[in-house]
Amino acid sequence: SILLKNITKTFGSIVKTNVLQDINIKISDNQFISVLGPSGSGKSTLLSLIGTIETPSSGTILINDIDTIELNLDEIADLRYENFGFVFQQYHLIDSLTALENVIIPTLTRKVEYEREKNAFELLELVGLKDQKDLYPFQLSGGQQQRVAIARALITKPKWILADEPTGNLDSKNGELIFNLLKKIQQEENCGIIMVTHDTTLAERTDQIIEMNDGRIQLVRRGKNGSLPITHI
Ligand code: ATP
Ligand code: MG
Repeated sequence: SILLKNITKTFGSIVKTNVLQDINIKISDNQFISVLGPSGSGKSTLLSLIGTIETPSSGTILINDIDTIELNLDEIADLRYENFGFVFQQYHLIDSLTALENVIIPTLTRKVEYEREKNAFELLELVGLKDQKDLYPFQLSGGQQQRVAIARALITKPKWILADEPTGNLDSKNGELIFNLLKKIQQEENCGIIMVTHDTTLAERTDQIIEMNDGRIQLVRRGKNGSLPITHI
């Protein structure tokens, strides 16, 4: 589970901007959560805090009951590796590497017990791109590049995928494909998804919706299929 307790995030030293305030939330495993809210409301910052990319200015973040404030940099890196895969609006693939090579990247700094290439190929198969494994990003459509990025996020076998506007650059047909793929991954790979989006229709189809406004969580509610509540303390 992910627990955020009394989180605030402030940027700047002389002029301080409160980007997040009063964030209290518990997210259970294996949920598909969407985060909605106007531009600048703190959605990406929230995702960075959950993914241990940023540290809070105050408050506590527990990932699987482990207090992240207590960890040193190596331990944080391990925790991040084991728990989180990241997907962004601009796919962030490396232009000079093939689809298969891009999928392998996150594991290169680690010893892994599986064969990298085989595993990466299976993930490309999962996202429907086995025939494109040797193609370079410029030879792939936006939707295909995002599917490579999703395979890359999965190679570390994370407990959660943190996706910041994963359909933001795609037309509705490809956005739908990516959304359905994330849904399938949630169901078949036993993975939680936290997806920032501006697409309210897609958000309604997730389990839970977090609505942000001006750095605060304004409302947490169920999507159409949601059952388990998120505790909003
Ligand atoms: P969008 O929908 O446009 O992506 P968002 O909800 O993701 O917006 P954030 O990117 O989380 O919003 O930003 C929230 C606020 O925090 C903004 O006012 C932004 O300028 C500020 N901010 C974010 N990162 C930093 C930073 N590293 N330094 C200073 N201010 C920052
Ligand atoms: Mg953002």
